[in-house]
This record gives sequence, C-alpha cells and structure tokens, in this order.
Amino acid sequence: MCLFTHVAFGAIAGALSPTPYAVPLLGLASHVVLDVIPHRDIDRMRYEMILAVLAIAAIALGGALSMKVVLGIAFALIPDVENLLWKLGAIRDDQKVFPGHRKYLPHGMITGRSSIGLQMAVSVAAIAFLIRRGI
Ligand SMILES: [Zn+2]
Repeated sequence: MCLFTHVAFGAIAGALSPTPYAVPLLGLASHVVLDVIPHRDIDRMRYEMILAVLAIAAIALGGALSMKVVLGIAFALIPDVENLLWKLGAIRDDQKVFPGHRKYLPHGMITGRSSIGLQMAVSVAAIAFLIRRGI
C-alpha cells in the first residue's frame, strides 16, 4: 500500500493498542495485512513521501499524535525501508524479506490507479476517526 495508507492504519493500530508494548507488533501486522490486499502504489517515491508527511501532519494538527500513535506509525512504515532500498537499486527484489513484500507472504496483486483514490478515501476516513476519537 501507499505510505500514507500505512501511516493512517499504523496510527489506528497504535491508538487502539491496549498497551504501548503491543504497538510494534500491531504496527508491523497492519503493514502485512495492507500489503497483501490487491492495490497499486504511487510510482514516484517522492510523492509517496510527501503524502505520508501530510498524513502525519494532519494527525498532529488534529491533536491525535500520542506516543502510541507515533510508535504505530513508525512500525507501520519501517518495513518499506527495504522497498525504498530496492527502488534505489541498493538491494534486489529477491533480497526483500518482510512478509507481504516477497518471501513468506507475496505482495498483493497490482490493481488499477483507482486503488490510489480508494486508499486516499479510506486513509482520510481513518485519520478523521482518529482525530474525532481523541487521544
Ligand atoms: Zn510494504
């Protein structure tokens, strides 16, 4: 999924976690679940990063950026470091190890561009839920 989608659902995972100690596992799990769903990513990593920063800014401006939410976002984004390294040519595709990217669970099928719009709509709804819920 797009980075902003991982931000939105990592934030939800963090906010709904019963304890801060469970947040890393829930953040990573949210990444796996989202990546195996058929979807399309934005081709240019630069735009992905800008939209992820905007999503984090929206959560912060909405007053919902608690420590658990920050942890949830961080652990939901960490797996895509290997995707960044792959896009930069630093590693090969077969060197990816995170479930949902390659080996243990394959990445979801690539769909049409409408998936990006759907991800935006769902992410905005998730962030709105988070902000309305409060910390
Ligand atoms: Zn991923």
